[in-house]
Amino acid sequence: MSLLEIDHLSCGYGHFQALFDIDLRVEQGETHAVIGANGAGKSTLLRTICGLIRTDPDRVRFEGQPIGQVPAHKRVGLGISYVPEGRWVFPSLTVHENLLVGGHTRRKGIWTIDKVYELFPLLARLRNRQALGLSGGEQQALAIGRGLMANPRLLLLDEVSLGLAPVVVEKIYEAMPAIIEAGTTVLLVEQDVGQALKIADRVSCLLEGRLVLEGRPSEISQEQIVAAYFGV
Ligand code: ATP
Repeated sequence: MSLLEIDHLSCGYGHFQALFDIDLRVEQGETHAVIGANGAGKSTLLRTICGLIRTDPDRVRFEGQPIGQVPAHKRVGLGISYVPEGRWVFPSLTVHENLLVGGHTRRKGIWTIDKVYELFPLLARLRNRQALGLSGGEQQALAIGRGLMANPRLLLLDEVSLGLAPVVVEKIYEAMPAIIEAGTTVLLVEQDVGQALKIADRVSCLLEGRLVLEGRPSEISQEQIVAAYFGV
């Protein structure tokens, strides 16, 4: 049994269909990247996993349990943490308070506030600062740290690198090995294909709402990726 199983998932917004018959498996302990162009449906896919979009129960299974109808807040309790695109932190709260909010489920696990500060020492230095005044990279680190505070079995990361300078992206990604070594399974959406291929055990590519390519980075060619990404 895979940690996350998605079967024949189709969904959208009102009459607009964004995803078509998606089948996806995410294995315990792996880092799985979903790539694809703007509007391909990557964020929509993550929203169906974290519960912001509900589906038929059996379309999404977590640890074998059908969760398609489970509300988002309950999925956090089950061990699914979602770090949305755009670094949504609570602007008026301090760094420390933002992290405490992330830990509200009190799920047991290795991630404590000290462990998050160890992972991102810059957050420790900024602990009493309001999130409002942080840079984009600092906010991204905080958003990931807050996600970890729920001690997820599955961490969903949406567009970590969006709008950040390459050097900042590098810094954020430097934290990934420690997250993975801690046993956290990671499903990340990334427009930066190079970054995705570097970090992921497996990559899936979405094209206009359809899964068109899946494999290990070492097993798929540049040509296959270009074809899947652009549909040529
Ligand atoms: P991006 O990198 O631009 O976020 P994406 O691959 O994450 O792209 P989605 O955000 O999942 O793509 O969008 C998939 C499709 O669904 C797009 O055509 C988009 O316009 C549409 N869409 C996304 N969110 C909504 C919404 N709230 N209401 C209506 N349509 C939406």
